[in-house]
Formats: sequence, C-alpha cells, structure tokens
Amino acid sequence: MLDIKITRTAAPKAKPEDETKLGFGKKFTDHMFVMEYEKGIGWHNPRIEPYAPFQLDPACVVFHYAQEIFEGMKAYRTADDTIQLFRPEVNAARMQDSSDRLCIPPIPVEDYVQAVKALVDVERDWVPHTDGASLYIRPFVFATDVGLGVHASHHYIFSIICSPSGAYYAEGINPVRIYVEDEYIRAAPGLTGFTKCGGNYAASIKAGELAAQQGYAQVLWLDGVEKKYVEEVGSMNILFNIDCKVYNAACEGTVLPGVTRRSCIELLQDWGYEVVEGKIAIADIMQAGREGKLEEIFGTGTAAVVSPVKELTWKGESVLIGDGNIGPVTQKLYDTMTGMQWGKLPDTKGWISVVEKVY
Ligand SMILES: *Cc1c(COP(=O)(O)O)cnc(C)c1O
Repeated sequence: MLDIKITRTAAPKAKPEDETKLGFGKKFTDHMFVMEYEKGIGWHNPRIEPYAPFQLDPACVVFHYAQEIFEGMKAYRTADDTIQLFRPEVNAARMQDSSDRLCIPPIPVEDYVQAVKALVDVERDWVPHTDGASLYIRPFVFATDVGLGVHASHHYIFSIICSPSGAYYAEGINPVRIYVEDEYIRAAPGLTGFTKCGGNYAASIKAGELAAQQGYAQVLWLDGVEKKYVEEVGSMNILFNIDCKVYNAACEGTVLPGVTRRSCIELLQDWGYEVVEGKIAIADIMQAGREGKLEEIFGTGTAAVVSPVKELTWKGESVLIGDGNIGPVTQKLYDTMTGMQWGKLPDTKGWISVVEKVY
C-alpha cells in the first residue's frame, strides 16, 4: 500500500461547460499523481498535488534518449454516478512489461492501481456526465538522471494526469480509410513494439502524416522484416472478419497487446466465433477483399473501443470492406464493451473495477 499524501489545489479550474466539445486530451484536471524513484531508495514520496509543470534539467536523460513509457485508460461515470475503471490491473501488468524492456524500475501492480484510483477519486467531479464522454487517464514514467552519458537512469518520475475527453464518435461511428504502409516500419523482432513507449510513436509520426495528407485516417503497419504480414494500426490493434472467422496478428514481441483487443477476443470466443491469432498475409487480405469475402475490419483501442474500416489501400490498390457501414460483429462488440464500461450492461466478465469514495 502506498501512503499517498494529498495536497488540494487552492485554485480549482472551471469544469468544462460543454462536454460535447471536449475533444481528446486537450484539457487537464486540477491534480496529478507524482512519485519518484532513486536507485538504492526505490519508489518513494507518492503524492497527489495541484497539476503543474515539471521542472527538469535540460540534460535530463528523457529529453535525449527517450527512456519513457506510458499507459492509457479511462474512467467512466454510470447512470447512478458510480465511477469505474475497465481492467486496470491489465494496464498495470503491461506497464511492468514496458518497464522491463526500457530498463525502468517496475511499479507493483497494486501500487499502480491504487495510484490511479486515488487520483480518479480526487478528480471524480471531472469525470464527464455526457453519453460516451469519459475521463482519459495517462500514467507515464520517465528517466530524470542529469547527464548525456547513455545508461539506464538512476532516477525516474512516475506521474498520472487526467483529461476529460469527449465521445470518440460524437458524430456517429464513421468507418475509416486505412493506408497499408509498405516503406516505413513500426517494429521488428527484438525491438520495442510490444511496449507502450514514446519512442515507438516518434518513429511512426512520419508515415502517419504522409497517409493523412492523402486522406487516410490511419496507417496499417506490416511486419518489419518481410513487410508481408499485418500487425497493427496507428494506436490500435486490428482484426479481420473473413468468412465468419476473425483473424488477428499474434502479440509476439512486435505488436502491442491491447486490453481492448484481448477483451474483444474473449467476447467473440464466448459468442462462438473462431478467432485465429497468427501470421496474416496482407496479400491474402487483399485477395479476400477482391473476392468479396472481407466482411469486416475493425481497429480496437481504449480511445475508440472499436473503429470500423471501410477501405484498405496497399501498393496503389484499394479494396472496399462490406457495404462501407459498420458491420454487425463490430457493432455488437462496440455495444457490449461500451455497455459494460458505462454500466448499462451487467459486468458478466468481472472486468469492472469501482473507484470507491475515500478522499
Ligand atoms: C495503446 C495501444 C493499442 C491499444 O491498446 P488498448 O489497451 O486496447 O488501449 C494498440 N496499439 C498501440 C501501438 C498502442 O499504443
């Protein structure tokens, strides 16, 4: 158990007036969680304090060598004003995997969950009331040693900030166009693809910008060795419904193991779908598209929950998916996941974790 010291702000900010105009990750709440690490002492001084800039030395390791990891979660408000999280311990465990790869000292799962719940409890009035809106939670850890030598830092900061965010689908669920990237890669065996580290994103921005210039919503990454097998999309995992079987890339080092992906797979299996995890060749996907067998494609991630795809372009050829609208499996997953998250459906899977009122 962390002994979290709480200092409340003397100058609370005004809550957003129009929750339909929040957007994503633009506004932040009144407080943040902070805890420091020093080699020989360990993680110490856990506290919740007024949201404020960090003061960091310009020679701080994170600025130069990107020793940094993060997580992404949401807090949801139910009709009876319960505030709840979705599988927080899975995010905590994943952050430990990211820590290990980036040589960052791990944070115990129960400490991570306690810290998230304490901050959300303090900020519970910031959890939006509007349908589909939620409090986005961003835990992150970064190296704070001062000096330009390349080594694992001896000092770190673990912080959590919260951002009230609008419904992802404020204008209804619009299927997106996806560009299959065949020049740049996101991950390769032995690298950091399975971790949520800022460096993965830094390396992916260029492909995303080029695709956006051509009107695509996201990039679909192929494997980094042969550029033959599909891996994932931007900040989402991706699943393919072909002939009533659901295919997706195995999470074996190069693909981020999404909590949403894992939950969708469990639901699909409960519903009797066959889910195949393995190597899926982009050539086979395109062929299925040409033959009209590509029933549905959808991305999965905490922000969107599911994001249907209507068009895929690879090496200049485009295939259209289904009739261009959200498909029945995608819709059912969306309804079931969001139903549980916002407390409209019973939590039959034990995935919901309530944020009790303590502070
Ligand atoms: C966070 C993330 C996902 C989705 O993970 P969730 O736990 O479902 O939110 C997928 N791919 C990448 C690269 C990510 O960073």
